[in-house]
Amino acid sequence: MTTVPRLTITQDNEFWFTAVREGRLEIQRCSDCGTLRHPPGPACPACRSFEWDTVESSRRGTLHSWTIIHHPKDPAFEYPLAVGLIDLDEGIRIVADIAGVDHESLELGMELEVGFAEHAHGEILPQLRKVGDAS
Ligand SMILES: [Zn+2]
Repeated sequence: MTTVPRLTITQDNEFWFTAVREGRLEIQRCSDCGTLRHPPGPACPACRSFEWDTVESSRRGTLHSWTIIHHPKDPAFEYPLAVGLIDLDEGIRIVADIAGVDHESLELGMELEVGFAEHAHGEILPQLRKVGDAS
């Protein structure tokens, strides 16, 4: 039985999880100054505006950092589990697990794509993959 908590969906982040379920990675953008931000939130960190819309990410980026998790093990994941922080081409970062890449071949700055995969509780979340493997 997984101990991973369920997603906490709020009126600030619902658009993001809805898009991910539909296979799109959206980035929140301030309508007043254009600053992109992630994770989603109610106010722009640059100008404090509450007005926002979204842009769709190209889902391409480079690996900023990663870690290999061995413990504690949860039945929702396979171990060792690689989790990465990716610098998206749009200029924001997201965290996701990494699939289909030998852990020994992970390198800072390597190009990755964002795909989507089912995680604990059947929830769909981003997953980092080799370029060309994402769907
Ligand atoms: Zn702003």
